[in-house]
Amino acid sequence: MRVMGEIVSDELLEAVDSCIFCSATGLTRSGTLVQDVPPVCVLECSECRAEMVDQLPKREFLDKLYTGGNYVGFLDGSERLTSALARRLAAAMIEGCSPSATIRILDFGGGSGSLGRAVAAFFSDRGSHCRIAVVDIKSTGVGSGIEFFTPEDFDKCTETFDVILCSAVVEHLRDPGVRLRSLFNRLAEGGWIYVRSPQLGGLKRVRASWFRWPRHLSDFGPAFWQRFPSIFDWKIDVVWSRASRPETEWRTKPVSTVVAIALKAPCFLELGFRRLFRLNVACSYPLVGGWEFLGQKISDSR
Ligand SMILES: [Zn+2]
Repeated sequence: MRVMGEIVSDELLEAVDSCIFCSATGLTRSGTLVQDVPPVCVLECSECRAEMVDQLPKREFLDKLYTGGNYVGFLDGSERLTSALARRLAAAMIEGCSPSATIRILDFGGGSGSLGRAVAAFFSDRGSHCRIAVVDIKSTGVGSGIEFFTPEDFDKCTETFDVILCSAVVEHLRDPGVRLRSLFNRLAEGGWIYVRSPQLGGLKRVRASWFRWPRHLSDFGPAFWQRFPSIFDWKIDVVWSRASRPETEWRTKPVSTVVAIALKAPCFLELGFRRLFRLNVACSYPLVGGWEFLGQKISDSR
């Protein structure tokens, strides 16, 4: 279905000739058109199966988009959702950490750092000292006591982190493969990395505006997540690779929340069925709307 996206002039676009995740050159058109004038299509990588637009907005365009007054980081608007996600993350991670250790938390693309701070609160309750850093393109709203890096400053930083949060970020990046590799290099041995992103799959073929162009530049279906993190040769124990919880709240968006739960339910049933019968079959259901990954970096000595 053809749709009118946000009009972006020719000079704002750069053609994609290799996969922005794995650098493979085998890219095919998926048929989804996210913008009519000039035409911007969705490509699929034959190697990692990520989907991405065939033209990227220039860096200056995205900087302007995200430094605009209306943009806030994902989850920054909902304390309840932030707290619920932090609680689930902490419950999965905290058992593997010494209660007295210093925990270094990086909230990559984290806006105000609300998710990093919420995760830190659970570690602090267990007696850990936490240091939180945020990487983003603007420091407005970053909470006190949180170290802030621009992406350029972060490239010069050599520090490693025990927890890296990358929630609803990679789909906004022009160079997600480079960034994910860099983040994993900054993850301490035994450290945790959380990645959450949309998985719009067949939904965007029904209505291309659901691709959320030009904020979103890529999308990931079940075939991608089956290959993640081996795409990047990460030595990691996978803790979660599953449909993410709904991004809306029942009280503020009841219809959206019910639709999200209904679409995600088959995936949770499939994952539960696989767990029950110990089936090692990858999830193939394509309409979950979002996916989350949590892994723990394996130490070189293991
Ligand atoms: Zn690829």
